[in-house]
Amino acid sequence: LTSSPTTPGLHVVHIAAEMAPVAKVGGLGDVVAGLGKSLQKKGHLVEIVLPKYDCVKYELIRDLRELDTVVESYFDGRLYKNKVWVGTVEGLPVYFIDPLHPDKFFSRGQFYGERDDFKRFSFFSRAALELLFQAGKKPDIIHCHDWQTAFVAPLYWDLYAPKGLNSARICFTCHNFEYQGTAPASELASCGLDVHQLNRPDRMQDYSSHDRVNPVKGAVVFSNIVTTVSPTYAQEVRTAERGHGLHSTLNFHTKKFIGILNGIDTDAWNPATDDFIQVQYSVNDIHGKAENKEALRKMLGLSTADPRKPLVGIITRLVPQKGVHLIRHAIYRTLELGGQFVLLGSSPVPHIQREFEGIANQFQSHDHIRLILKYDEALSHSIYAASDMFVIPSLFEPCGLTQMISMRYGSIPIVRKTGGLYDSVFDVDDDTIPLRFRNGYTFLNPDEQGLNSALDRALNHYNKNRERWQQLVQNVMNMDFSWDSSASQYEELYSKAVARAKSTTNRA
Ligand code: ADP
Repeated sequence: LTSSPTTPGLHVVHIAAEMAPVAKVGGLGDVVAGLGKSLQKKGHLVEIVLPKYDCVKYELIRDLRELDTVVESYFDGRLYKNKVWVGTVEGLPVYFIDPLHPDKFFSRGQFYGERDDFKRFSFFSRAALELLFQAGKKPDIIHCHDWQTAFVAPLYWDLYAPKGLNSARICFTCHNFEYQGTAPASELASCGLDVHQLNRPDRMQDYSSHDRVNPVKGAVVFSNIVTTVSPTYAQEVRTAERGHGLHSTLNFHTKKFIGILNGIDTDAWNPATDDFIQVQYSVNDIHGKAENKEALRKMLGLSTADPRKPLVGIITRLVPQKGVHLIRHAIYRTLELGGQFVLLGSSPVPHIQREFEGIANQFQSHDHIRLILKYDEALSHSIYAASDMFVIPSLFEPCGLTQMISMRYGSIPIVRKTGGLYDSVFDVDDDTIPLRFRNGYTFLNPDEQGLNSALDRALNHYNKNRERWQQLVQNVMNMDFSWDSSASQYEELYSKAVARAKSTTNRA
């Protein structure tokens, strides 16, 4: 193990459960990679610590090697050895922790959804801090994400800062407050945290019960900086209706809590260089888009009789948050309006998965509808490139990346006005918004009439005025959704927290 080289910028370590493209379930993976790369470009030293899952896409890691030293970390009253691997992903140095624990925490063939997730990730959070400590690293910022690595915040201040790993400020980003990882309070002791001290209403105690703890709440309380992934969502979760039980904690800690809209990785999502798509294209030459549409239709067995028929796409986890009843409605409504519809999605919720399997079967050889119920990165690129419109009828949406990716590929988003969708999609027909910012179709009420009011206008506009539609496509492809400005906001937050820490140390 070596300590960190010195660079003029900040030293930022992300401790996370996901990183695209090697270990991605959803937006969290995209954010860790995208923000990390952007901060690295700005001259900071960025490192990532991930679990060494068996299902990591190892072929995408460069120079992966096992370190000579093992890291011993505490769990359940004893020390366990961890093998540590290091490699480069998308130009970023990544440490992979492989616990030599009999429960084989990360050899389960999937990232999440195991019955002992609390144990797996509290173990990982502690082992990650132990790695930084034993490697003699002196990061300025330790950035943890979502409940899986929320344990880092209390572990850092209660155990590691006193031990001497005390150079850092802690930043916690919650990508979705729906997932809080609560568990019986006693389980917190396994990773060495003091249950008696932490199971209090102003610390980690869950609002639902006196004997449950809440890792996300712990990270909100114990971090120096708390962010979420859009300004509107940051407002929404401060309310009782939308705070998933954490609104009062967030209001109490409101000074350190801010919403920063995510960017997208514009290298990974670039129709001009995308190897997954049939024909590359750019804003200056969008002819390729029609060829991608034709190619996808052929591949999926959809009718190619009318090249101008609008193609509506959606790529999503099929969970209640995403407005599954509205997704289902959008399929039928698109058909009624004379369009084609392609859905790529999969569901961790068995009854939703079954329902969509039923719809997929109903349309399995239909000319205009196709549902593909799996996770498929390559196909996702082809759908962004081929579709004319993209529906996102979420009930709530912390940020949402698919509206930004679809715009990059010239597919016009049709979204419910909530969270990050509210902050990034502006209605074509809204005269209160300057023309150059208008980039999609929006609706407010999460019901069928609401969705129709946007979908109908979009299809109508597409069918009636091709020239204006082309202009709209070019306009949205030109919009900047790169990480650049969001990463600058993180940079500023980090720098201020580091400066505050220095001034407190100097005064002491
Ligand atoms: P969330 O994080 O809630 O899943 P986001 O919109 O923030 O939603 O991010 C979703 C990301 O996951 C996007 O990059 C999207 O393309 C991708 N994605 C979602 N479902 C699938 C799927 N079935 N196959 C491939 N990619 C998917």
